[in-house]
Amino acid sequence: MKKYVTEKQQNECIETIQTLISYPSYLREETTDGTPFGQDIVDVLDKMLAICKEMGMSTFRDPEGYYGYAEYGEGKEMLAVLCHLDVVPPGNLEKWETEPFKGEVRDGFLVGRGSQDDKGPAMAALYGFKALLDNDVNFNKRVRFIFGTDEENLWRCMDKYNEKEEKATMGFAPDAEFPLTYAEKGLLQVKLKGAGDATLALNCGGALNVVPGEAAYEGIDLEAVIKNLKAANFEYEEKNNGVTVLGKAIHSKDANQGTNALARLAMALAPLTENQAVQFIAKEVKEDAKAIGIFGELSDQMSGVLTFNVASLKVTAEESEIGIDIRIPVSADKEEVVAKLTALAQAYDLTYEEFDYLASLYVPLDSPLVKTLLAVYQEKTGDMSEPMSSGGATFARTMENCVAFGAVMPDSPITFHQENEKMSLRDIFGAMDIYAESIYRLCCE
Ligand SMILES: [Zn+2]
Repeated sequence: MKKYVTEKQQNECIETIQTLISYPSYLREETTDGTPFGQDIVDVLDKMLAICKEMGMSTFRDPEGYYGYAEYGEGKEMLAVLCHLDVVPPGNLEKWETEPFKGEVRDGFLVGRGSQDDKGPAMAALYGFKALLDNDVNFNKRVRFIFGTDEENLWRCMDKYNEKEEKATMGFAPDAEFPLTYAEKGLLQVKLKGAGDATLALNCGGALNVVPGEAAYEGIDLEAVIKNLKAANFEYEEKNNGVTVLGKAIHSKDANQGTNALARLAMALAPLTENQAVQFIAKEVKEDAKAIGIFGELSDQMSGVLTFNVASLKVTAEESEIGIDIRIPVSADKEEVVAKLTALAQAYDLTYEEFDYLASLYVPLDSPLVKTLLAVYQEKTGDMSEPMSSGGATFARTMENCVAFGAVMPDSPITFHQENEKMSLRDIFGAMDIYAESIYRLCCE
């Protein structure tokens, strides 16, 4: 097997990752500058496309600024490499040991926001591809790097792309782990809304993709709430005017491995309030992150078990609102899940609203795409671990016949979205080799 990547492309790759990290390209929602997600995101997209153009690729930027792509090669068929240039905000700046938007190399790691999600892996793929160009390889298919700008939020970039642009024949998203993810659960995020309650004043949890690790309460009947928490053996901390229930935060896709502090608070509150949102959580969900009580046991071999995360609860005088994140196994019927949840919510005078839905992904293990990518990974690394299914979501599910492929090696820490996000140089260079060979076998042989 030829090795295409040399030190030249490795150095270029690191430099470009650093350049991209220097753009704080996280979502600014209500922008007034005419950009969909903020000027920083448009700027990083333009920079990326300029770099691709310099490599000899033809580039296109959506005039509104939602997405861009860079293409190379010939033929009807097209391999898409699905990347994203947006990042999550830096988080707690005090916890960072480096500047989050600098991309410093420390102890063999490139550290910075986006280093692992997704600027680093995207560039590993791009410079793996560049190594093929530098080797004057002939392409009999087209390779299109698609750069999304709203992956960390609502994927509005890929919605626009799919509305207007050509779909790929096959593809991969370098935005997860090696070896390869061939199944991703359906992702359904919903809001259940009901009447308000002036005495409760709850504002717990937050992002839908996180299991609340804390839930604070400062309303009426504080003593009784604490008594109920104690009786249930739930962990909590007493604060000045209130109490904070403690749980274990974890990504919603792994909700059944976390401890939902918000659900525990609702259970402690339920005997003391008539609020129907609280009742719904306390009686129907409880601590069951698989929601077996609501849907029965939903799971399959390809993608595992359904997870159900009560991610937020807001109660004001005007309104109550529960935010829920559900990961639905590949074989399960989304409409059935919606119907059951809607009917049950109605029994609590709560109305169902869909906030976001991403259909599941499934590419069979014996498909040529999966077989090729897996073979390259195994030959390059010697690692024979099984391909995976995941409750997580990558752009792979925005097109048929796409999988998530790399770039974090199985023995490396996942630092996506965390302070001190980092990617090892070993992983970056290893991924470059794998991507170069993969693109070669898919588009050049
Ligand atoms: Zn990502």
